[in-house]
Amino acid sequence: MATYECNVCGMSVNATCAKCNEPLVNDSITTADGRQVQVSKCPTCEGKIKSPMCCGQDMSCTI
Ligand SMILES: [Zn+2]
Ligand SMILES: [Zn+2]
Repeated sequence: MATYECNVCGMSVNATCAKCNEPLVNDSITTADGRQVQVSKCPTCEGKIKSPMCCGQDMSCTI
């Protein structure tokens, strides 16, 4: 189970793909304007979502 944790307040969430029932893995993409964005990717269907945020920053993946 992938767990994202906030370094500021300690809140954690479990992120899974509801379609595949697979834990999401941490990944990053580079946007058109050259910025690195942290994303959560499903290894099965290759779906990507923006990583969860808390306290104004990306939550870090503990896996
Ligand atoms: Zn927080
Ligand atoms: Zn999936």
